[in-house]
Amino acid sequence: MSKQSIYGLTFEQLTSWLLEHGHKKFRASQVWDWLYQKRVTTFSEMTNINKECLQLLEEHFEFQTLTEHIKQESADGTIKFLFKLNDGNLIETVLMRQKYGLSVCVTTQVGCNIGCSFCASGLLTKDRDLSSGEIVEQIMKVQLYLDSVGKGERVSHIVIMGIGEPFDNFENMVDFLDIMKDQKGLAIGARHITVSTSGLVNKIYEFADLQSQVNLAISLHAPNDELRTRIMKINRAYPIKKLMEAIDYYIEKTNRRITLEYILLKDVNDHKEHALELAELIADKRKLAYVNLIPYNPVSEHSQYQRSTKEAIRTFYDTLKKKGINCVVRMEHGTDIDAACGQLRSKQMKKKQKQKV
Ligand code: SAH
Ligand code: SF4
Repeated sequence: MSKQSIYGLTFEQLTSWLLEHGHKKFRASQVWDWLYQKRVTTFSEMTNINKECLQLLEEHFEFQTLTEHIKQESADGTIKFLFKLNDGNLIETVLMRQKYGLSVCVTTQVGCNIGCSFCASGLLTKDRDLSSGEIVEQIMKVQLYLDSVGKGERVSHIVIMGIGEPFDNFENMVDFLDIMKDQKGLAIGARHITVSTSGLVNKIYEFADLQSQVNLAISLHAPNDELRTRIMKINRAYPIKKLMEAIDYYIEKTNRRITLEYILLKDVNDHKEHALELAELIADKRKLAYVNLIPYNPVSEHSQYQRSTKEAIRTFYDTLKKKGINCVVRMEHGTDIDAACGQLRSKQMKKKQKQKV
């Protein structure tokens, strides 16, 4: 019987599991205290839990579903971890130092089936979804690393923007959010967590209904269907009109602001006309929509795309501002260490494939 990660259970799931197996409810609080406050990494360290219960936990659960394969540190303090999963697959997790705290970017799938034309993660089709435990463990591994450095630093923010489409692994993502937000666990505030989707419309409705207070970001990347379909083939299934309706529903239901991500690709979607078209498209959501302009991180396999010039970025930004649209140009982190999503992983995969040949 293969064991499940102990980090994959929400507090309620662990409580029910313990009750079903004849143990007292309060054991769940004890286990969580060891996991998330004292942050031990073996069951044997949980000294206030009786032997019988520990043995049972050990039989069914494990701590380690990922091991560190590579760690790259950038001059700006960004650290990129490449983890190896138990089945040998590689995933990426990134720790970024922000003005407001320490933010971690997590991966939700091995590869991605959405296959956006500019993205390194989509180069390899999805091998499988990550379990909730494997997603939580990415945060724990980074937190344990910070603990080992000994400065008392804490992961304070999470972005679900690593490899994969989180809304294509919805249930595990929701459990992950639940575990991260729990006051008895790491207690990371919902407003400090952002999930990014390429726009799986039906899941946006589901997410809105959860009323979770977690921030939502949508990868829009183009102001019209013709262009968006060219860049992101998912636009065929979920065109802009349907996406905008879902966004309206989300805003109405949650009264939360929404982030619209827009990668700037040189001479593809970065002209002043595109900015004007975008401003028009979201004019009715001006108060609650924020545009995040993302300078493109070139991916060698997608040589048809280049980063926009500084002038083009500036003009795009100014044009949106003049139209009353809230927008920022996203700060970059770790550009010297394979920063673009999935880049480090795809490099390693290529090395491996070469070795096989
Ligand atoms: N699948 C989700 C979340 C992961 S990608 C999504 O697509 O939203 C997170 C963000 O990084 C997305 O906005 C994505 O478009 C962007 N991204 C992907 N490749 C990039 C690259 N090479 N340079 C800059 N941003 C990139
Ligand atoms: Fe998948 Fe997001 Fe990359 Fe598109 S941008 S291929 S959805 S990870």
